[in-house]
Amino acid sequence: MADIIDGRAVGEEVIEKVKRLTAELTAAGGTNPGLATVLVGEDPASQVYVASKSRKAKECGFHSVQHTLPADTSEAALLELVERLNADRSINGILVQLPLPAHVDATKVIQAISPEKDVDGFHFINVGKLGTGALDTAFVPCTPAGCMLLIERVRGKDLSGLNAVVIGRSNIVGKPIANLLLAANCTVTVAHSRTKDLPALARSADILVAAVGRPEMVRGDWVKPGATVIDVGINRIPAPDKGEGKTRLVGDVAFAEAEKVAGAITPVPGGVGPMTIALLMANTLTAACFAAGRKRPAF
Ligand code: NAD
Repeated sequence: MADIIDGRAVGEEVIEKVKRLTAELTAAGGTNPGLATVLVGEDPASQVYVASKSRKAKECGFHSVQHTLPADTSEAALLELVERLNADRSINGILVQLPLPAHVDATKVIQAISPEKDVDGFHFINVGKLGTGALDTAFVPCTPAGCMLLIERVRGKDLSGLNAVVIGRSNIVGKPIANLLLAANCTVTVAHSRTKDLPALARSADILVAAVGRPEMVRGDWVKPGATVIDVGINRIPAPDKGEGKTRLVGDVAFAEAEKVAGAITPVPGGVGPMTIALLMANTLTAACFAAGRKRPAF
C-alpha cells in the first residue's frame, strides 16, 4: 500500500513558517505583508475561496483587505482598482479571484497586476521567469508550487533521472507543474485530451500528476508500481450512499485502486487542496520580503 501524502500537515507546516517569518519581518521594523483579494460577483465557490484566503491571511499576521464588487462592475473600474492596489505600499500581493464575469477581459485585468504583486503567478513576466528557470525572483502559481513541495517530501529536491507525466496542460496547473518538474531535472511529458494511449504513457511515470478535472479517470493499472501520484483534480460527484442529493469530492485518480500500486499518493480531499492556500500565503510573504530588500524565504 502507498504512503499517503498528508497535504493538510505539510500545508500547516508552511503556514507555521509563514507566521514565524512574518513576525520576524514585522519585528525587524518592516510592515507586515499585505494581501488584497478582489472578488467580482456572487459565485458561491469563489466567495468561499476568497473568504478562506482572507481568513488565512489574517491568521498569518498579514494586513488583509477584501474588495467585493458587484457582478456588473465595469472592466475600467476593475482596472482602476488594480492600479490603486499596485500603487498602495501597504499591499504586497493582489489576488483577483477567477473566473471574472464574461464582460470583463480577465487576461487584461490579470496582466494589469504589477508582476511584483502577482502572488498567483499568472502575469506573463512571472510565467516567463518560470519558463526560463529564473526561479529566484519568479512568483510561481500556488497549486503547482504546492505540488512540488509534496513531491519533494517523497523524492527530495533533485529529481534527476525520473520520468514525470503531467496529465493536463492548463496555464494555471499543468504547464507550470511541467516547468517546475523540468527545473528539478525530471524528464517530463505533458499529456492532454489529444494524447494517444494515455494509460501506457502514464505507466512510464515515476511521478504522475493528474490535473484534468475528470473524476477518477486515472485507474490503478495506469500507475507504475512505486510511482509518486499527485492528484490535483477536485470533482464533486453524487453520493447516494450518503443520502439523497448528497455529494462527495473525488480526485482525477481512482484512489482505492491507485493506492495499491503507487509508492506514495495524495488523497482528495486533504492532498493538494490545502497546499494551494498555504503557498498563496508563502508567495505574499515572499513579495513582502522582496519589497523590504530581503531574500526569498525557503519553504
Ligand atoms: P482545465 O480544464 O483548465 O484543464 C484540464 C486539462 O485536462 C486540459 O489541458 C485538457 O487538455 C486535459 N484533459 C481534458 N480531458 C482529458 C482527457 N480525457 N485525457 C487527458 N487530458 C484531458 O483544468 P485546470 O484548471 O487545470 O484544473 C484541473 C483540475 O484540477 C480540476 O479538477 C480543478 O478543479 C483542479 N484544481 C485543483 C486545485 C487545487 O487547489 N487542488 C487548483 C486548481 C485546479
